[in-house]
Amino acid sequence: NSPLSEVDPEIAAVLEQELDRQRSTLEMIASENFVPRAVLEATGSVLTNKYAEGYPGRRYYGGCEVVDIAENLAIERAKSLFGAEFANVQPHSGATANAAVMHALARPGDTLLGLSLDHGGHLTHGMKINFSGRLYNIVAYGVDAETSQIDMEQVRELALEHKPKVIVAGWSAYPRQLDFAKFREIADEVGAYLWVDMAHFAGLVAAGLHPNPVPHAHVTSSTVHKTIGGPRSGFILTNDADLAKKINTAVFPGQQGGPLMHVIAGKATAFKLAATDDFKDRQERTLRGAKIVADRLQQADVAGAGISVRSGGTDVHLILVDLRNAEIDGRQAEDLLHEVGVTVNRNAVPNDPRPPLITSGLRIGTPALATRGFGDVEFTEVADVIALALLPDADVPALRARTKALADAFPLYPGLGEA
Ligand code: PLP
Repeated sequence: NSPLSEVDPEIAAVLEQELDRQRSTLEMIASENFVPRAVLEATGSVLTNKYAEGYPGRRYYGGCEVVDIAENLAIERAKSLFGAEFANVQPHSGATANAAVMHALARPGDTLLGLSLDHGGHLTHGMKINFSGRLYNIVAYGVDAETSQIDMEQVRELALEHKPKVIVAGWSAYPRQLDFAKFREIADEVGAYLWVDMAHFAGLVAAGLHPNPVPHAHVTSSTVHKTIGGPRSGFILTNDADLAKKINTAVFPGQQGGPLMHVIAGKATAFKLAATDDFKDRQERTLRGAKIVADRLQQADVAGAGISVRSGGTDVHLILVDLRNAEIDGRQAEDLLHEVGVTVNRNAVPNDPRPPLITSGLRIGTPALATRGFGDVEFTEVADVIALALLPDADVPALRARTKALADAFPLYPGLGEA
């Protein structure tokens, strides 16, 4: 019963240092967020001890009567939040949720039509050495070279030509909303299933600030830890009773063994919070913040340095900076921002002339800072810091002082980690 600091001081130090890093820097990785204290508590709980293979009321282990309550709450809250008739809340992550979706909808060798990775798609939508690329025949659509937006005519042509079993709509790096109705129309035209992966924008959907894919898609998958701001994990929704059965079988025993009941409890709490006005306010600040960053970057003289914003702006929680014509590359830009205390990730852009480890793009997201409390004023300040940091001869100490002032003004997890 000794505390971590006595049992394993090295790991205790890691926890302390990471808390300090999160507190003292500005987190703008578009897929990250800060879970509320309540979710931290549920996730770091005794529920981690429990084996519960199966589903509530139909378990393969005894003693599941208490954890069943948590899973049922998570299921009901997920259904109500997204207007779905069925939810599976067991996937350990977004990737395992997606593997289960494909397992439920297709057989190895079937064709999957998805957004190409270098145009903003996800590894699980068909990357060559991912399970998706190894098990399924992949056809990829992309974004238009001029507009940086998905060309639905190209999607339709590819669908008609390749007759996919599944069409996936969803992205990891794309700054606009998708036309779910059009995707469904194309899927129906070629007899494909439409699977929407809303991992990135699920929080915006929950807040009613982004179209809901659930009424259009045969199946919708998501993570919980991006815009929703819950524990690292996934879930799957559908309105089709037959597919619901296939999804349950695909997750367990098809894909996983025992579910992570502590994480499922954390998901239940995150879904409860996602139905509140505070959550909606946070998502509104997230969206406004992304627009402010996109606008300020374009107004600042970054264009002179060859820096632009892909698609000219954003409708979601992230912006994509295009450095193809800039002297600095994605890695240098990521490092420069790191030096001034802003954490982002470099990202390949379509037709990237630089190699994948270098890249010519940056992905900048606002969800974590909105959770921290940022509003328009702070997002304007951070946008200006980013613009100045990317220009030649940046005054790094002055910019670092500005990000530190912002971080100090919005304390993260006050009281946490104090004896
Ligand atoms: N789907 C999309 C669209 C994503 O962006 C991601 C994560 O980046 C995932 C799935 C996978 O989620 P995880 O990292 O939890 O496996």
